[in-house]
Amino acid sequence: MMHHLWIAKNLWNELLFHAKQTYANYGRFPTRNSLQIMVKKSGLYSQTQQEIAHRIEMAIWRYCRLKRECKKAGFPRFKSFDRMKSVVYSQKDFWLDKKLEVIPFGAIAIVKHRNVSGVIKTLSLKRESSGRWFAIFSVEEPKGLKATNDGPSIGIDLGLRTFATLSDGTRIANPRHIRRYEEELSFRQRKVWRKKRRSRNRKKAIIRLARTYERLKNSRKDFLHKITRKMAATYSMIALENLACQEMAEQRFGKHINDAGWDTFADMLCYKAENAGCKVVFVNPKETTKKCSNCGKIQDMPLSARSYQCSGCGMLKDRDLNAAENILARATAGHAGSNACGEEREGMPLNETRNREQDSRCATTSLSHEKREPAERI
Ligand SMILES: [Zn+2]
Repeated sequence: MMHHLWIAKNLWNELLFHAKQTYANYGRFPTRNSLQIMVKKSGLYSQTQQEIAHRIEMAIWRYCRLKRECKKAGFPRFKSFDRMKSVVYSQKDFWLDKKLEVIPFGAIAIVKHRNVSGVIKTLSLKRESSGRWFAIFSVEEPKGLKATNDGPSIGIDLGLRTFATLSDGTRIANPRHIRRYEEELSFRQRKVWRKKRRSRNRKKAIIRLARTYERLKNSRKDFLHKITRKMAATYSMIALENLACQEMAEQRFGKHINDAGWDTFADMLCYKAENAGCKVVFVNPKETTKKCSNCGKIQDMPLSARSYQCSGCGMLKDRDLNAAENILARATAGHAGSNACGEEREGMPLNETRNREQDSRCATTSLSHEKREPAERI
């Protein structure tokens, strides 16, 4: 398996080099066809090779799109062996029983987390940096009836002190995963530094460090999966701010914004909502904190002010709750008026949504297609 990863890594680098050369010579990137011709005879299965060509194509395509939108984007990079994480096998190269049989490797003992429903289409073998391997199956399920959901509508304000404040007053505390692992991480990191370079003990220490990071990652994911699933099942419409998380993280509180995982939260919510008959609407984050949800007056809100006291109508409310109500109001106001706001995301096939995460987000942005701006609050 390592050998296959190694070939895949070399192939990636070759193709990327080819793409760069083509661009330097002809001023455009190679077509998918020319990439697919190049991958022949690398020693991997044909589908596996082509999947890598496809990855390169997608990476370049994504880069070009971000550039077009004048966003920060880095060109796909050459990979070291550690950075090549997975290879994909097609249907005919493996089968799943009590063990997983992949043709070149034979039977592999696995821990089966759950039964697979639907028709298995592809398998990807993924290596985590901690050295553990995962088998990931993609399946095709027959399209069932669309789920319906007649729960209430809700606006959500994401923050750091409380992870999410819902417009009905519910608060979800920020679990601050990184705090739980901080000590262990620095301990493991120190262990790595103290070991002699290139020694076997250093390797072991690095794996232990990677395991800790993996646990941190898993606990983050677990938390987000649980709350997004619950929300998608409870509400019929969810309004969120269209935050530019990356830009915000670069400015201030980067560690904690990344730890909270607002972006992942939004992505998970979108795809879960699709299956649960729920609708996710993204609204412009401008002045959601500064505006009075009662009379609409706008006043300055320093970060330290935890409650909103309106100088116009005298309303006193929690800062985040006020914002959540504004977000909900923005999302629903659009619906009552024109259909310029908040299209449903249900109709879109899943893979398409995945491929165009950012695009489709723009499409559902309710108030405008303006550039996403870092919101003024944390
Ligand atoms: Zn007011």
